[in-house]
Amino acid sequence: MSKKYDLIIIGAGTAGMACAIEAAERGATVAVIEKSHQIGGAMHWSGGHMSAGGTQLQIRSGIEDSVDDHYEDIIRINKGSGDLKLIRKAVEEAPHTLNWLDDLKFPWAPECPRIIYGHVPYTKSRTQYGVNKAISIFDAIKPLWDKGVDAGRIHLHLHADFSSVSQVDDRYKIVHYQSNGQEQSLEGEHIVVTSGGYGSNAEYFKEKHGDIPYSSSAYPDSTGEVMIYMEQLNAAFRMADYHLPSLGGLELEPGSQRANFNEAWAMVLTSVYRQPRDIYVNSDGKRFLAEDEINADTRERAVIQQKGWVFWVIFDEAGLMAKDDNGNDNPIIIGWDTDQIKAEAKKGKAIFVADDIAGLAAQTGLPADALATTISDFNQMVDHGEDPDHGRSYLNHKIGKAPYYAVKVFASLLVTFGGLTVNEDLQLLDRDSKVIPGLYGAGEVLGLGATSGDAFCSGMAITPALSFGRILGRQLTT
Ligand SMILES: Cc1cc2nc3c(=O)[nH]c(=O)nc-3n(C[C@H](O)[C@H](O)[C@H](O)COP(=O)(O)OP(=O)(O)OC[C@H]3O[C@@H](n4cnc5c(N)ncnc54)[C@H](O)[C@@H]3O)c2cc1C
Repeated sequence: MSKKYDLIIIGAGTAGMACAIEAAERGATVAVIEKSHQIGGAMHWSGGHMSAGGTQLQIRSGIEDSVDDHYEDIIRINKGSGDLKLIRKAVEEAPHTLNWLDDLKFPWAPECPRIIYGHVPYTKSRTQYGVNKAISIFDAIKPLWDKGVDAGRIHLHLHADFSSVSQVDDRYKIVHYQSNGQEQSLEGEHIVVTSGGYGSNAEYFKEKHGDIPYSSSAYPDSTGEVMIYMEQLNAAFRMADYHLPSLGGLELEPGSQRANFNEAWAMVLTSVYRQPRDIYVNSDGKRFLAEDEINADTRERAVIQQKGWVFWVIFDEAGLMAKDDNGNDNPIIIGWDTDQIKAEAKKGKAIFVADDIAGLAAQTGLPADALATTISDFNQMVDHGEDPDHGRSYLNHKIGKAPYYAVKVFASLLVTFGGLTVNEDLQLLDRDSKVIPGLYGAGEVLGLGATSGDAFCSGMAITPALSFGRILGRQLTT
């Protein structure tokens, strides 16, 4: 261990890359350890929806917005939960982060800025994303990263698996990691933990959240080992009582507990994007929600009241083939056409098909009598134009034309809400709320609960990851 770095960053993902770039641009030398074979982390999977108030793109689009409006909207949505000081810090930095991308000629999707209804909507059009999800962010910042590497300021160690930290003069300065079966060490003035969430670690998830059902569409490298280690070092973990999944996960391999947001995701987030020609039933074969409820939060919270946080979307052949209001195909799985749905249904793993309701019940394991009664009751509601049970108002399609389909949908997690505790300077704190000298954190390792509270606020994971990474890159090099 010869060279001493200004910063050592653990994890070359969203926050880690932003931090390294900012520090390198200010002349610092940065070592980055990354356990994977590639940099970019969750940006390879993420939707990349960012949010900020008062951005250059909003101004160009004639939208009046501000940091205060964004903050107030978040507090309205999450009912004042989360770490309010961190939320304020994230929201204040957010326009600078988005303008930074804008100055890099970021390829904003043409419909942005916009209001997103997949979460409780903001009152203003302030969600912005690129034409290629979060890959657009990666592509935009990668040249800056390369510049830092070429200038000899960013030293990347791939296949470098974090193992521990140790102290010099009562301050954590040394990072130990495994590479090619060998223990290696690096010394730096500051250590920044940007190793992401723990959504792909079923065991740690259970330890933190108890027996709530686990189905994950988190980034596969969100495995939480660094958090586990930091907890052993007495770092404080918080927000474990918050957890919200996202609706739409399909476990194409039954029992795998894995769904994939980008490959197979049911369009059940909110009916704003798709009017229901289907009904949702729980494992008792009963409806539990007005399927045209537009509030995503209400939908998510209704599903997590159901056994196993799972439900079946039931429709018939007419529902499958129905077009949207513009005459386009509009099948329930995002990006799938009707042929793909039929092909998957033949496998009988995540989608099921049968010639009658009894057959569908046999395939899915749903109680046949209850399912038949639910469908027959629903068809009568369509006849009468009224849903006395749940108040659904979109009652245009009966379920009566064979074959019949069921899609087994999981409330599946994308991000984790719990995380390591930091102060306003993003220093890790121990269980006595004391600063752990030398250690800082940014990104999902702090938990979505810290920056979004007990609710999903659009963009409040990836934007703070970029922003806090950049803030630390500045703060630790001055
Ligand atoms: C499908 C999906 C969609 C999403 N959509 C949105 C969205 O639209 N808007 C939004 O705000 N958020 C979204 N998110 C969440 C958001 O993308 C993430 O929270 C954010 O990108 C995480 O950034 P990060 O830097 O904390 O972690 P990552 O980007 O995951 O980076 C962590 C890095 O640390 C590395 N690492 C982990 N453990 C170790 C170790 N032991 N040693 C060395 N390296 C290690 C990992 O390999 C990884 O490269 C989404 C997430 C998913 C999965």
